[in-house]
Amino acid sequence: MPDFDKKKMKAAVLYGPADLHIEEVDVPEIKPDEVLIKVRAIGICPSDVRSYLGIYKRQMYPWGKESYGLSGHEWCGDIVKVGEAVKDFSVGDRVVPEIIVPCGSCKYCGMGLTNLCKNKGNITRGYAEYAKSPAKALFRLPDNVSFVEAAFAEPIAVCLHANDIISAKPGQTVLIIGGGPMGLLHVQVTKLSGAQVIVSEVVENRLKMAKDFGADITVNPAKED
Ligand SMILES: [Zn+2]
Ligand SMILES: [Zn+2]
Repeated sequence: MPDFDKKKMKAAVLYGPADLHIEEVDVPEIKPDEVLIKVRAIGICPSDVRSYLGIYKRQMYPWGKESYGLSGHEWCGDIVKVGEAVKDFSVGDRVVPEIIVPCGSCKYCGMGLTNLCKNKGNITRGYAEYAKSPAKALFRLPDNVSFVEAAFAEPIAVCLHANDIISAKPGQTVLIIGGGPMGLLHVQVTKLSGAQVIVSEVVENRLKMAKDFGADITVNPAKED
């Protein structure tokens, strides 16, 4: 395979509220412990929608080319270039990055609470042809998981974590308040535990989807108690 040598790529760059442009930007430079990944699929997180509307942590995602003005973290793809210190991954590997890169040495990392890491980095900038990630933040995709499915890895991880905390069991009942994308993922993950699932949601077509995804009981609290 010839070495990857593209210098320019297309990216979605946000310059102000709802002012999104597809532009030519530089392909990200990688450090020795990083890899460059061709982005194959990306999910749109509510944080991206808030960025797009201009109501989200602007200091984290400044307008324009510096950060593309968007988070863009629910992405996956295949590796096109590896830094010289990377041992465990090679070109062509299908991967999904974890959004948080923990420092590994603060108090919270020591307690295993890496999501609370004081010095964490974020893997973002996925609304582009290529994006980079430290190799240590990558997970390999099994062959039977498509890129589109893998774009759900981060939101599903959130649901699995919540499920771990409540450790629902058969015979128990779990109430999920809200049937948006996360609520509907919770339905599917919670059903795997064998518990009965009730979804409360005021939007009728979301209630219908909750049923389709396996909810045992759906309730519209605007219409019934
Ligand atoms: Zn997200
Ligand atoms: Zn840390």
